[in-house]
Amino acid sequence: MSMDRAQCLLMDQADPLAFVRERFRLPSGEIYLDGNSLGCLPKAVSARLTNAIEHEWGRGLIRSWNEAGWYRAPQRVGAKIARLIGVPAEDVIVSDSTSVNLFKVLTAALRLSKGRNKILGLVADFPTDTYIAQGVASWAGAELVRVRPDNLASAIDEGVSIVSLTHVNYRTGYRYDMASLTRAAHAKGAMIVWDLSHSAGAMDLQVAACDADFAVGCGYKYLNGGPGAPSYTYVAQRHQGGFEQPLQGWLGHTAPFDFADDYVAAPGINRVLSGTPPVLSLVALEAALTVFDDIDMTLVRAKSGQLSELFMLVADEVLSPFEFKIESPRNPSDRGAQVSLSHKHGYAVCQALIHHGVIGDFRAPDIVRFGLAPLTTRFVDVFDAVMVLRSVMEQRLWDRPEFQRRKAVT
Ligand SMILES: *Cc1c(COP(=O)(O)O)cnc(C)c1O
Repeated sequence: MSMDRAQCLLMDQADPLAFVRERFRLPSGEIYLDGNSLGCLPKAVSARLTNAIEHEWGRGLIRSWNEAGWYRAPQRVGAKIARLIGVPAEDVIVSDSTSVNLFKVLTAALRLSKGRNKILGLVADFPTDTYIAQGVASWAGAELVRVRPDNLASAIDEGVSIVSLTHVNYRTGYRYDMASLTRAAHAKGAMIVWDLSHSAGAMDLQVAACDADFAVGCGYKYLNGGPGAPSYTYVAQRHQGGFEQPLQGWLGHTAPFDFADDYVAAPGINRVLSGTPPVLSLVALEAALTVFDDIDMTLVRAKSGQLSELFMLVADEVLSPFEFKIESPRNPSDRGAQVSLSHKHGYAVCQALIHHGVIGDFRAPDIVRFGLAPLTTRFVDVFDAVMVLRSVMEQRLWDRPEFQRRKAVT
């Protein structure tokens, strides 16, 4: 074999990000390759949450909105995420879920681009992105047009209000070119929103330098904010004045504590807010984000490319008898931090793998997905995981009834 375990251990020794693993509480005896679905637990979170519960909530009660900084947490956490996605600190805010924030952005975009009535998306995008666009289109009397990726640029025409794209595809890991597609949208007078759920925290991003109009994304994947962590929204400064979204709750008001009878949108990014934020979840996300404080994201990007390259190299060598197909792009610059394999028994293979200590996930109809979160995944983990997969296949361990039964969450 061209790559052996000892070489992987040497790669870990040479890894400039190896020290970051210490900042996480990781399950022992398991290889966790699902950080693209639910990121690992940063050690800083428990103590911070305990303090928020015991001291800020238990003791401070209502005073903590001011004194513990709860009220400004959406902006403060937004500023931390802004650095990771390459935009000004004051243009990102944390609230709600990605689904809800996408709803706000798409409705606001249709308002902003008077006379344009189309949302342009992709077929086979992440379901919630499509469903939300379908809902917005039907409520706003707009049209959702969905095309295959190859036809995307040519489908942008003068009727398109906004192009809605997920930067890294959840099934294949295909990464779209943010700069060129943003240019293509602008060339036809359309806006673009990037869903960064599978990008932020796994790579360096230059959303403002690409001149993107909007971005949204998820707090619980590579940002490690915990289950159901709130989401973030970026609105380019040039659109903030005209950003009108229908979920105009009191916290997006210019003066919430005036308790005025009529809504007047806050200036700037605050108008994205609707209601009261989930403070404990925000506090957990804020603590989780401290793992990135001193991290050069270009190193994170480089490592994700090396991890996925290693995965494919070893998979090519040892999995050839077992009818897997690598569904992720071979070119590292076209790929996020994941490797996806299709297999006709994919679900059972994934369950057998989990049973043997390699945690990936399954995406219908046939994708076994391995997220290679660069801060927590070692090269030796990738090597070992592929070896466990080989032994699951060699011994047909997947072919057992308990691995065929579908659970509610795959
Ligand atoms: C994970 C993910 C979401 C999640 O949306 P929620 O509203 O948090 O459930 C949305 N879009 C994409 C592309 C995702 O990967």
